[in-house]
Amino acid sequence: MRVGIVGGGAAGLFAASFLKHGGADFVLLEKGPTCGRKLLLTGHGRCNITNRKPVSELKDGYHEASSFMKASLSSFTPDDAVRFIEDELKVPLKEEENNRMFPKSDKASDMRDALVSYIGSKNIKTNFDVVDVQIENTPDGRKFNVIARDKRQECVDKLIVATGGQSFPQTGSDGKAYDLIEDTLGHKITPLYPALTGIPVAQQDKKFTAKVSGVSVYAGAGLYLNNRKKNKTEGNVLFTHDGLSGPAITELARNISEYVVEEDGWIELDFTPGRDDKEIDDELLDEIRQRPDAKLTTIGKKYVPASLSEAIGERAGVTGILASSVTRDARKAFVNNLKHLHMTIESQPKFETAYVTRGGVALDEVSRKTMESKLLKGLYIIGEVLDVDGISGGYNLQAAMSEAYVAVRSVLC
Ligand SMILES: Cc1cc2nc3c(=O)[nH]c(=O)nc-3n(C[C@H](O)[C@H](O)[C@H](O)COP(=O)(O)OP(=O)(O)OC[C@H]3O[C@@H](n4cnc5c(N)ncnc54)[C@H](O)[C@@H]3O)c2cc1C
Repeated sequence: MRVGIVGGGAAGLFAASFLKHGGADFVLLEKGPTCGRKLLLTGHGRCNITNRKPVSELKDGYHEASSFMKASLSSFTPDDAVRFIEDELKVPLKEEENNRMFPKSDKASDMRDALVSYIGSKNIKTNFDVVDVQIENTPDGRKFNVIARDKRQECVDKLIVATGGQSFPQTGSDGKAYDLIEDTLGHKITPLYPALTGIPVAQQDKKFTAKVSGVSVYAGAGLYLNNRKKNKTEGNVLFTHDGLSGPAITELARNISEYVVEEDGWIELDFTPGRDDKEIDDELLDEIRQRPDAKLTTIGKKYVPASLSEAIGERAGVTGILASSVTRDARKAFVNNLKHLHMTIESQPKFETAYVTRGGVALDEVSRKTMESKLLKGLYIIGEVLDVDGISGGYNLQAAMSEAYVAVRSVLC
């Protein structure tokens, strides 16, 4: 039996390593000149390979796919991943804050190179851009004839598709493979959204964010669509020239569609989460009484960095006003902007900057225990091409490894 893997990203490389470990005959087909181009960028070049939380907690990081993911995560846990990477691939790992695991060397290239050398170059075909798959049902069983753009062909008995999502297209995952999977292999693709990326704000709000560009502050963030709060997060918010970023913001991106302008989408920032408006207003009033000669925006430094307090003061129309002459309305306007800063969303975030893609091959057509297609026996689908996206912190690479493991286990049995 010969196995073909389409896509030499994280999922494809791990599937190939597991096949190698199992002594199988296989070929890894990658359309780019090298494998693991996205893997090299992970964790800012340090590769946050997994997260050592217990599976019962980890699964909740996969949004709507959490129950789908539980099966493969339980079969190949973060501890199993650590063992395989350290013992087989010989890449020592270390644990950092929030259970995130990295190579001790802090080099994603060590992980990529170890995978490629473990698999062996004779099992990898690069510049093999798969454009068609022909299925032949012979008396000996099903065959997949995998055809490249340059007409090269590979005939295999089992096929693992690991073509990635649509984000960071320069790494090879440009979304074109979805058409192949839909048109040729017959699988449904759910709507695609860029996820884990910054959110661009409208021109008038860019003036604000550009002024405080580089400032990172702890805040609550709410996403509003059609005047209803759709999601909320809490964490660091980073202001950029283009808009908003940082963990609290990037987690919201997956909910923003291309219709965000028609939906009147906006983000509300709360710089004192967990405390209500009245509490902050009373506290500010006390401060004003105690420091009549200070500017209101200077007093605001109690809550946010100085430059942000200035920008909030400007938006509230209280720039330069001394505490002794602050009116009730001016104070309320300042508190309102501190607790409910309104940032209009300019457009859907970009796939070019998204760390992952939400959406993909519909999960009801894939077995969660084996990753085998429910439509086409012998076909397996793994990695980001599936409708699974995890939060940041090693979740997406762990998903790729766990899915690769259960697919290979099923292929080999
Ligand atoms: C900047 C950045 C940083 C990230 N950091 C982390 C992190 O630290 N931790 C974490 O868990 N996740 C991280 N992620 C997410 C993680 O990298 C991805 O979820 C993961 O790489 C997905 O693996 P994959 O194999 O499914 O897809 P990919 O890695 O995208 O690989 C897909 C491969 O398939 C190939 N391919 C596509 N179509 C064809 C075709 N027709 N024929 C042949 N080959 C084809 C592509 O060229 C590509 O090599 C990060 C993502 C980015 C963009």
